[in-house]
Amino acid sequence: MAGYIPVIGLEIHAELLTQSKVFCTCSASFGGTPNSRCCPVCSGFPGTLPVINQTAVEYAIKAGFALNCGINQFSVFDRKNYFYPDLPKAYQISQLNLPLCINGLVPVEYTENGEKKTHDIRINRIHLEEDAGKLTHNDLDGVSFADYNRCGIPLIEIVTEPDIGSAEEAKAFVEKVSLLLQYAGVCDCKMEQGSLRCDVNISIMKPTDTELGTRAEIKNLNSVKAIGRAIEFEIYRQSKLLDMGGRVVQETRRFDDNKGETKSMRSKENANDYRYFPEPDILQVNISDEQLSEIKAKMPEMPDKRLERYLADYAISETDALIIINNKIIADFYDEAVRTYNNPKAVCNFITGEMMRRINIGEIDINEITFTPEQLAKIVMMAETDVINKSNAKDVFRALVENPCDPEKIAADMGFVISNDSGKMIEVIEQVMSDNPKAVEQYKNGETKVFGFLMGQCSKALKGIATSKAIKDELEKRLSR
Ligand code: ADP
Ligand code: MG
Ligand code: ZN
Repeated sequence: MAGYIPVIGLEIHAELLTQSKVFCTCSASFGGTPNSRCCPVCSGFPGTLPVINQTAVEYAIKAGFALNCGINQFSVFDRKNYFYPDLPKAYQISQLNLPLCINGLVPVEYTENGEKKTHDIRINRIHLEEDAGKLTHNDLDGVSFADYNRCGIPLIEIVTEPDIGSAEEAKAFVEKVSLLLQYAGVCDCKMEQGSLRCDVNISIMKPTDTELGTRAEIKNLNSVKAIGRAIEFEIYRQSKLLDMGGRVVQETRRFDDNKGETKSMRSKENANDYRYFPEPDILQVNISDEQLSEIKAKMPEMPDKRLERYLADYAISETDALIIINNKIIADFYDEAVRTYNNPKAVCNFITGEMMRRINIGEIDINEITFTPEQLAKIVMMAETDVINKSNAKDVFRALVENPCDPEKIAADMGFVISNDSGKMIEVIEQVMSDNPKAVEQYKNGETKVFGFLMGQCSKALKGIATSKAIKDELEKRLSR
């Protein structure tokens, strides 16, 4: 299988976070009782007229700015005709020759086989279109259900040039685009809810070939992991096919997540098959220079700018800054927390350490964080100012996650607030030393590693009485007598 070069181009569909749908006033939010968010326009009744949602146009342009595209100030909508039960009108309003955004560039950084790589992926276009409904198939009863709530939700389609060379690179690209769209505030990019979906086009070629090979298109991948697995499988399948003297046919395929394989769905349709023609019911979009600069001015702080700001104002390491920035929810949380307690380094350490650890093990749902940035900041502040010990800060945090309330009250209730009672401290240290004569003896004979054990005994008994530093100093003093 060696000797082939994979060539990959992606089409990413992203649902825009507008309040209402793209051509009617129905709600565009996720979910809802099936078919409760539909009207004659989005259900495709004859004679109804679509009216374009200006916010959807603005969001599509913002996505263009986020992906370094040029904006077509004159843009046209077209009808893409096809019959499928999820599309009641039997055509989708989309854009063919004059999309809103063209010629973008997205830099990706990723690691492959232990090697750090960077690559600029060219974006061919971003166009605005409408989503179709959702079909649910019940194979047991042999029936299917159609929910048209999703019909008419504004969708952008981002099409890359065939610039991607591996599964790792494709995954990094999708993650980067998803980050940029989230920062731009135009899509929540929840692949598991279908607000971001990806089609993968893939072919392979020999290094000596002058033309690209025939591609297969794998439709509707709904996780970054599935994108990677589908690409790996396709490289394997196409290479084997060519090695055996066969050839790849241009077709649409589906990825079976359980088997980790792609399967043929249908032969690939061409633009001709869709009988595209200009949508007669929607005016062409004209965007003035003034409107364009207004939209540009509304662009939120993007990840590269945020990195600059963190390095300049917060003086945290680039590695730490990137861990925070690579998740928009975490980054916003961090900014809020630093506003409460202006110690960027300590707050960063707590978030990248304890908070992210609990997110990773599933104790905190990042989409529904129940405690506030202020509450987290207070815990860090108490630990940094010796109101509580650092090790106890983690316990206060655990209690906060379980039952959000004032961290100062939690610390007090748990008996963690340090009283600085030095008489009591000395008493406890002396007690620990006389209870552990062997360890004390060992320490005095130069086996300094037992210090940790003695320190641990003292700390446990002195959790709300003395700071770790005071305990350590006093214990050292007494041991070296
Ligand atoms: P369609 O709309 O029919 O899917 P496009 O020309 O818009 O076709 O291309 C879709 C995607 O396929 C783009 O991302 C493009 O980069 C990619 N692509 C085109 N040719 C190839 C090829 N030979 N191998 C891999 N990807 C390709
Ligand atoms: Mg396609
Ligand atoms: Zn509607």
